[in-house]
Amino acid sequence: MGTLTPYLCLLLGALVGSGLTYLTIRNKLSRKDLRSLFTLKRTIKDLEFERKLLMRAQDNMLIVLDDKHLIKLANKDAIKFFGKKNITQRHYTEIIKIPELLSTLDEAIQTQQALKRELLLTVESDDFQAGEERCFQVSIKFIDGDHHDKHTRIHLHDITEQYRTEQMRKDFIANASHELRTPLAIINGYVETLMDEDIIEDTETSQHFLGIMKKHGQRLARIIEEMLLITKLESGVKNTLNYEPFRLKEIIDECIVHLDQMIKEKGVIVKIKMDEPDLTIEADKFYWSQILFNLVENAIKQNPERQLKVKIGCTQCKRTGKIKIWVSDNGVGIPAADLPYIFRRFYRVEKHHSQYKIKGTGLGLSIVKRAVEAHQGTIKCDSIQDQLTRFSISLPPTMRVEDLSAK
Ligand code: ADP
Repeated sequence: MGTLTPYLCLLLGALVGSGLTYLTIRNKLSRKDLRSLFTLKRTIKDLEFERKLLMRAQDNMLIVLDDKHLIKLANKDAIKFFGKKNITQRHYTEIIKIPELLSTLDEAIQTQQALKRELLLTVESDDFQAGEERCFQVSIKFIDGDHHDKHTRIHLHDITEQYRTEQMRKDFIANASHELRTPLAIINGYVETLMDEDIIEDTETSQHFLGIMKKHGQRLARIIEEMLLITKLESGVKNTLNYEPFRLKEIIDECIVHLDQMIKEKGVIVKIKMDEPDLTIEADKFYWSQILFNLVENAIKQNPERQLKVKIGCTQCKRTGKIKIWVSDNGVGIPAADLPYIFRRFYRVEKHHSQYKIKGTGLGLSIVKRAVEAHQGTIKCDSIQDQLTRFSISLPPTMRVEDLSAK
């Protein structure tokens, strides 16, 4: 107790002191003064709340530096992004560690010139995958304080989605032009040769050339058709799907008839496995014919030099009610490194093509994926090289309808 006595005395003294100060102020101030004091207090509180609200309302990251380049203000998103709680009153170089962002900020501060720039930044924040590359619109401006002091306003707007879409559009145009140029150049080459009088009179050679031109003309037409289909699927086709009930077996049979020549030529064994041959779904039949055709055609054309078995099946999962459709083959398979990319537009596994010169546009699987997704389904591919490649589609149970023709 003895050791605590001086502290207790101090505390008591402080309390008595503040009480006395309060009483002195109260006695000295009139009621009117007191009212103004309370109004002022409320205004300050309101202003503080407004400032907080404004900072929160910013859906982008916002940081303000004072004239000594210490962080004066930072909104929640900025605090989260830079991963540090106490960022105010610290020099920006202590907090901003991303090199490209730091050098941009240094540049603006040195030149005292406002700056707006798109930056690709490798970020480490909790909201993103470690080391993820994201695109930001960075805007730096200088604002005057009340005492002619300069403040720096840093604004970061995450535009990764727009950037990726734009990138995909650019890649699509570049790839499409490349794919179209090759058959066109071949056709033009043969036209020029045929225009040579000696050759046009040689019926056998000119027929051979015309055959090649026809083949490349057909390829051009297929690329254009598939590109149009992708564009349609990407421009909100979900609302324009033509839903009608049909049996899955019906489109599987149609697909095999279409590929009959290829199947016979290559001696492919095709097996269909259906627990319920009458399994009927309500969907856009046109797209489902395309989906099956592309998957089965791929299974056959990617594997020309082996005893090929292709299996097509569908069933409804008893537990989840989901409709499962699959196409598998025992061919060359897809290397694990290529698997994540096969649904991308124009993606083709290089190894396959240099080996066998397989004709394809690289658009087939991206059409399949987009068409499945337009029906609220998912698709995945598993592959063990030289053993098994299996494309599995899963559709919501609601797609199943009663087989009307059975009535
Ligand atoms: P393509 O027009 O080239 O067939 P796709 O988009 O249909 O384009 O397929 C992309 C790539 O995936 C193909 O080029 C091929 O390398 C690979 N692939 C697709 N299906 C199979 C399969 N069943 N077996 C082996 N490789 C396949």
